[in-house]
Formats: sequence, C-alpha cells, structure tokens
Amino acid sequence: MLHKGIFYLSSLLILPVLYVFFCVIHVSTQGSAIFDWLPKWDTLLIIFTIIILERIYTYKYAVSQRHVLTRDVIAIGVNTYVTGAAVGMIVSPVLGFVPEYLFGRKLVFASPEQLGPFWLQIVVILLSVSFFRYWIHRAQHTNAILWELHSYHHRTSDLRATNGLVSNPVDFALRNVVVFLVLGVIGFDQMAILLSVTATTVTAEFSHCGGDVKGGLLNYLFVTPEVHRWHHSANVPDGYGYSCNYGVEFSFWDTLFGTFYLPQKTGEVVQPERIGHPGGLPDEGNYLKRLGALFRKEIFDIQAAMPSSWKTPRIAVRIAA
Ligand SMILES: [Zn+2]
Ligand SMILES: [Zn+2]
Repeated sequence: MLHKGIFYLSSLLILPVLYVFFCVIHVSTQGSAIFDWLPKWDTLLIIFTIIILERIYTYKYAVSQRHVLTRDVIAIGVNTYVTGAAVGMIVSPVLGFVPEYLFGRKLVFASPEQLGPFWLQIVVILLSVSFFRYWIHRAQHTNAILWELHSYHHRTSDLRATNGLVSNPVDFALRNVVVFLVLGVIGFDQMAILLSVTATTVTAEFSHCGGDVKGGLLNYLFVTPEVHRWHHSANVPDGYGYSCNYGVEFSFWDTLFGTFYLPQKTGEVVQPERIGHPGGLPDEGNYLKRLGALFRKEIFDIQAAMPSSWKTPRIAVRIAA
C-alpha cells in the first residue's frame, strides 16, 4: 500500500519536475557547442526521459509497439530534423515580409518592452499558442482533408514517447510548426519565448507517455497522459462527436469549449481500454504510406462533392475504410 502511495505521489510530481529540469537545461545550454554536434538534442532527451518513465511506471493496458519501432524512429527523425526546417524555409520569408511591408522593420513590435512585463509575455505566449493549437487540432478532426492527414496519428495502438511525433509532416507542421514561426516575428522577449516553448514542448511530449503516470488535479490544467489517452480512444465517448480532449498542452481549453472528457469511478480516473483509430483501421508500419496520404486524389473528389463536410460525421473514416 505504501509502495502504491509513493508511486502515485511521485507520478504527480513528474510534469512539474520535467518543466523545471528542461527550463534549466535550455537556459544553461543556450548558444553552447552541444547544439552543433547534436542539433535538437533537447527533443531527443525529452523522448529518452519519457521512455525511462514508461519503464518505471508500467501501464496495465500497454500494447507492444516493437513492430512499428522503425517507423517511429523515421517519423521522429523527419519531424524533428526536416519538417520544421522545410516549412520554415517556405513560410518564414512570407511572415518576415509582413512587418517589413507594414512597419519597415523585421518584427511587428520594435522592442520587447512594448509587449508588457516579462511574466505577462510568457502568459500571452502560452495562452495564444495553446489556443491556436487547440482549434487547429479540433479542425484536424472535423475537416475531411485535415482528418485524412491527421488520422494516421490516431492509428497507433498505444501512446508512447516514440509515437508522439508520428504524424504526416503536413499534419505535424500545421499543429506544431506554423504557430511558432508566427511567434518569431512578433517581437517577444527571447527568454520569454524560450521558457514558454520549453513548457509547451515538454507537455506535448509528456502527453504521449505510455506509463501509468497520474495527473491528479493537473489533469484539469494540463494535457496529461490520462487526458490524452481519451483523445486516442478507439471508442469516442458518447456525445463527443469526432473526439474529445483536443488540447495539445492545456486541458482547460477543452473544459471551456465543452470537449473535456475524463471519467472517474470511486475517486479514480478511468482510462480507455483500447487505443486506436475510431474507424477501426489498424496501425500502419510503412512510413511511406503515411506520406502518400497527401496525394490521394479521392479525398479531394469526395471533399468537393460534400460541401458541408464539417457537419457530416465520420466522412473521413468512411473514406479511409
Ligand atoms: Zn488528434
Ligand atoms: Zn496524440
């Protein structure tokens, strides 16, 4: 019993400890040579840390992901090292042109002081980034074309540190790259951006932890693994339409917009028994087939024939099936 209590209490502390740990790491290694010999080493360290947590806090409904490990590693490599850089090359010149054209300078605000005190900038960044990601993620479930791309992320049969980055690159970029590029041209304090982005990245990665880690009251503020598992449930809870828990870092957006779902039984959080595609499609271990989704002609034909696809339930599931 004492053993169980220690596990429960310690799992509650994981997210705050990860926050502090990675904020210290990011601030102390800024501009250091480590980024030269292993770019994005911090992302890899977060994933590695979560893999260790999965080994310590083993989960009763865990489903082995060994058969798709190669696919997971390729997806991590592509979405960590290629997607952001490629989208940045295309989008950044366009974004940079806007303040240049309007104000004759590189940033929308000439100095960070114009955006208020340091702490307020962190609050503004966290709220605006998470608000944008909530709605783009919700659209990725309700719009047929976006769902066709995003549904691959939902074919995984369990949440793991290794499949948090498993997404079609276009789907990944819409949710995880564009908003940060916009952030870069506003003119926020660089340290405020660094700390906020660390917080959002750590939470998003941690939400895919496959271990039996508890959220407690944090479930109502952050997207913990307990909250995100319901987003990946093979059976969408009754009355929730396409899915629930769309938040990427904060769960209070779901509470605010009526999409939060986290049932309890005798004081304990209940978890879905099966993770997977809501239309029943099995996981796809071939990474190239994930990339191919963008070029499937029929999704555009059906989209064109269905003007009110937003209201047509499960259209994309039917197409895929
Ligand atoms: Zn989703
Ligand atoms: Zn996910």
